[in-house]
Amino acid sequence: MTQRIELFRCIIAAGFLTLPGTAQSESSPTTPNIVLIFLDDLGYADVGFNAELFGVETDVVTPNIDALATGGTIFKQAYVAHPFCGPSRMALLSGRMPHTFGGQKNLPDVAKNLEGYNERGLPETEIMMSTVLQDAGYYTGCIGKWHIGSSKPFHPNSRGFDEFYGFTGGGHHYYPSLTDKVEPKVNDYQFFLEKNGEDIMSPDGVYLTDTLTEEAINFMKTGIQKEEPFFLYLAYNAPHSPLHGKTEDLQYLYPDHEPATPGNGVNFQDYERRQNYVAMIYAVDRGMKSIVDTLNDPDGDGDSSDTVMDNTLIVFMSDNGGKIRQGASNAPLQDDKGSTLEGGIRVPMFMHWPDQVPGGHVFEHPVLSLDLYPTFAGLANADIPEGKTLDGKDIWNDLLNGQNPRGDEPVFWLRHHGVGNEVSIRQGNLKAYRKIFGAWRIYDLSADLTETTDLAGENLELLDYLLGKGYEWSQNLIDPQWHDTAAGKKNWEEKGMPNWKKTFSRR
Ligand code: CA
Repeated sequence: MTQRIELFRCIIAAGFLTLPGTAQSESSPTTPNIVLIFLDDLGYADVGFNAELFGVETDVVTPNIDALATGGTIFKQAYVAHPFCGPSRMALLSGRMPHTFGGQKNLPDVAKNLEGYNERGLPETEIMMSTVLQDAGYYTGCIGKWHIGSSKPFHPNSRGFDEFYGFTGGGHHYYPSLTDKVEPKVNDYQFFLEKNGEDIMSPDGVYLTDTLTEEAINFMKTGIQKEEPFFLYLAYNAPHSPLHGKTEDLQYLYPDHEPATPGNGVNFQDYERRQNYVAMIYAVDRGMKSIVDTLNDPDGDGDSSDTVMDNTLIVFMSDNGGKIRQGASNAPLQDDKGSTLEGGIRVPMFMHWPDQVPGGHVFEHPVLSLDLYPTFAGLANADIPEGKTLDGKDIWNDLLNGQNPRGDEPVFWLRHHGVGNEVSIRQGNLKAYRKIFGAWRIYDLSADLTETTDLAGENLELLDYLLGKGYEWSQNLIDPQWHDTAAGKKNWEEKGMPNWKKTFSRR
């Protein structure tokens, strides 16, 4: 492993010497294939390229992910719109803050059968990036986790995806054949995988991450045969719980590892949790190698003259921060999934596209997952439907020119708790933060990445300005259109939520 890290250091050092940019064109020559790889609960330091960038020692093994990252542009300040799964995915694909359409809570587990809730999902009025790309002639595929609505109007095949393979709920067992046999199914994780609405019985031994990779490759191979470009949204479940490292990966990474029956990890020792978590990321890295191999040599005959890599944009990011008690590390950031401190909302990210995305480069300015929709639409020459609002920006030219896409515009993060809100408002490098009705704090992210030194006392004027901006912003938001639990709904009604006035006051 030491050898790997040394090799990686050389790659990254070499990459950083070739500064990019000047030879890049302002617009792309052709509409590219787009491969969007979205991980679930990946820790900030849990891919080699990001650990290296922030000087964090790590035991993750991600050589294939790291090679792509260092061959492209790593985003040092990439943010998602919400610190947990469902709302983050809805934001990514709709291009809007989830609170604007009431999608700021996870959809309830379908198996919970809460009244009427199975019929909910991302409102049909929010045209998704997949539809826009499909309308522009792209062949579109969603492989993996959906979590945007399970019933027909909200199903991937109704929302701009020609192909879907995966599961529509919030997660899945990693050995699907084990849960295929469970009846009755008591949670989403036990449902059959499906292909375009048809249940799939998984053969024994099938490992979720590997089967998602295989389906992604099949999709890309079909797409490469077509005249039009393809858009692949590959939403791996990994490394989200349950902590099911693949047995062979655990044995390879930890020769002393004692094989255990895949469980929920609750009874694991800390080191067992971490080992499973690392193994789950390793399986994604193996998938990345297969994806790169397919793009480099689609017919697999060893001759790369049929490569499509030069016309493929690959984007890699996570839906939110890692969960520390599941074995993740968000170092050097504070807190984890669910928080609007950096550890919940700031994620590893890179883009790769030979000769188009600057190679061996680090982009220093903040970018948002919300920026991908307009950026992809721009590259695809796709039309944004009339009346469609997008909360992000097309960052393509800023990326090529090394410019900050939003200057001093404030950016907001908001998560509802039972009785109050957790809010962050960032302007420039300063970030105001409040959890429920605790004191407002201000952190300087340029000097204090771990958010430990409160500067509110010396920035009261700025704080008042940001609170005004926050309140103004909140007036465009609506109540959650669903709650993930009955208790959540009751709390909302009984505690006077959303409590905007109180949230954005200093008291
Ligand atoms: Ca997640």
